[in-house]
Amino acid sequence: NIINARLRGKPGLFRVALNGERIAAIVPQTDVVAPAKGNDLDAGQNLVVAPFVEPHIHLDATLTAGEPKWNMSGTLFEGIERWSERKEITTHDDIKTRAKKTIGMLVDHGIQHVRTHVDVTDPKLTALKAMVEVRDEVRELIDLQIVAFPQEGIESYANGRALMTEAVAIGADVVGGIPHFENTRDQGVSSVKFLMDLAERTGCLVDVHCDETDDPQSRFLEVLAEEARVRGMGARVTASHTVAMGSYDNAY
Ligand SMILES: [Zn+2]
Repeated sequence: NIINARLRGKPGLFRVALNGERIAAIVPQTDVVAPAKGNDLDAGQNLVVAPFVEPHIHLDATLTAGEPKWNMSGTLFEGIERWSERKEITTHDDIKTRAKKTIGMLVDHGIQHVRTHVDVTDPKLTALKAMVEVRDEVRELIDLQIVAFPQEGIESYANGRALMTEAVAIGADVVGGIPHFENTRDQGVSSVKFLMDLAERTGCLVDVHCDETDDPQSRFLEVLAEEARVRGMGARVTASHTVAMGSYDNAY
């Protein structure tokens, strides 16, 4: 039982009776009660809610602002450049330490489900291998989904396709992408087709950084949506950061 709990929108205190992993009953209390030995979790008259979800975070890059240099323009593209420099001095332990520190902060705020994008444009896949270990080590605290995220592109980065495929083989749960960052429009389109093939073949989910630019000509969301429709994969596909939509003209 969880006792002395407050519930959203309801006056008074409640006892939440648990049956294994499920809520069996929610019973109003007339007063504050003392916990029975061993059985009860005392909420201390605090609010009890379902756990929160953090659907988009980059735990491999967390807590690195200013290293090795600050992003002086404040733009996404300089941010990616700074991260690329930081990535060169990143180690397995460095990633695990920072990721776990941030996970601690998430847990303190009531978050129990996390999807993290992990940069796989790295010939050694250092971050991915570290995060696969972290996923296991924090299993009791949170559900962690790992996205194989090609920060510097699939087609425009050396061996980008092979790194994505290897990342899934090592244990990524979700296939990512960044079509607007590829060198050409054609590469953007082919990167989406490649990542959808990979996800379809392996049963992975999909979460693409899609049109994260103010450019009104950045139109990869239509490509991703159509690939999802044709393959019947809609429920498995997420488009993140679709900010170019704010720049599209009304006719489009
Ligand atoms: Zn992101």
